[in-house]
Amino acid sequence: MKKNFISSWLCFDFLGVGHQLVLLLGMINNLIRKLAARKIINSKVEDLGRSLLSKVFYKLGAQLTHDLEFPFQINLELSRACNYDCPFCARTETVVGSHIKFDLAKSVIDEATSLNKPTLFALHMWGEPMLNPEWGRIISYIKKQKVQHRTSLTTNGFLLDTTNIEALLQSKLDQVIISLHTFDPAEYQIRIGKNIDLFFIENNIKNLLAAIQSQNSKTKVLIRLFLDAKMQEEQSHKIKEYEDLGAVFEFDYYDNSAGDRQEWSEIPFTKQNKRWACYHPWLTATVNIFGEVTICCVDSKMALQVGDANHQKISEIWKNDKVKKIRNEHRTGKFSPTCEVCKGCDTWANKPDMFFGSP
Ligand code: SF4
Ligand code: SF4
Repeated sequence: MKKNFISSWLCFDFLGVGHQLVLLLGMINNLIRKLAARKIINSKVEDLGRSLLSKVFYKLGAQLTHDLEFPFQINLELSRACNYDCPFCARTETVVGSHIKFDLAKSVIDEATSLNKPTLFALHMWGEPMLNPEWGRIISYIKKQKVQHRTSLTTNGFLLDTTNIEALLQSKLDQVIISLHTFDPAEYQIRIGKNIDLFFIENNIKNLLAAIQSQNSKTKVLIRLFLDAKMQEEQSHKIKEYEDLGAVFEFDYYDNSAGDRQEWSEIPFTKQNKRWACYHPWLTATVNIFGEVTICCVDSKMALQVGDANHQKISEIWKNDKVKKIRNEHRTGKFSPTCEVCKGCDTWANKPDMFFGSP
């Protein structure tokens, strides 16, 4: 299975110079995918193109972007509740909870706003963020504090009715990622663990795309599919239909979610079983619904908790000894009990190595 690394990287929506670079990479990557799908280039040329993107340009962008003073990306867990029951999801391993409080989210946003650079806010960890009744208020607050902040919301799409679409566009959300998994209706129900009609979700997406077009909105729609090359080809007519409506696609595959869902992993390890440093400790801090801060967005048991946003600043947490220790263990590949959870995890392989000259 070939992973579309670069469009996946687009989720980060890199800011500044890195942002411009990744937009270019996204275009090149999509071009490679289309040329390969139309058999204009063979698989060797396709692999070479992707290899150049991930081994050179991705690293350059990541080096330009990561910041040891404050995280480039903050994941805010808007809600831990969910209306789906996806079997690959480790939400059931977490402590049960509802939604993040507005004032807690506000304190994190205010700190990021006080700095002289923008931050990317990804508004999820576990759960369906649109179940938080204040999701629109939180997004609007981020954008009102600093228009250069970027906001990305990942949703299963079920709640994208007319009212929520209007609220979403009013909030000035930059990017909505819809986890659709597949265009196969029967397979869809298996992947989400519910008897929900895929047609209903497709209709919601089409309504969203139509509203974006009619309102000339800048919100981008990324549809995330989990399909191998054969399935991509079989569903190419649907992919094209949505591309024509303005959506961008990301082709992902399931990982083991920090070791919690081993049986779902599709990560194809290299022959050498090579391991590189996970991108999380350099690029993202995740604030859960309780305010606990972890270095990793799939840390279901908060094994990598590095602080608490209820009484600590994110900038202090980001520079503390535990964060430095985690980074060091990832750079050397020698994991102590501090990084025990990382040993059995393969989620790190979801992004290419961001360093030149890894051990
Ligand atoms: S993957 Fe998302 S939609 Fe599915 S159960 Fe987990 S939180 Fe809910
Ligand atoms: S290696 Fe896995 S558990 Fe460790 S930080 Fe990365 S994604 Fe999280």
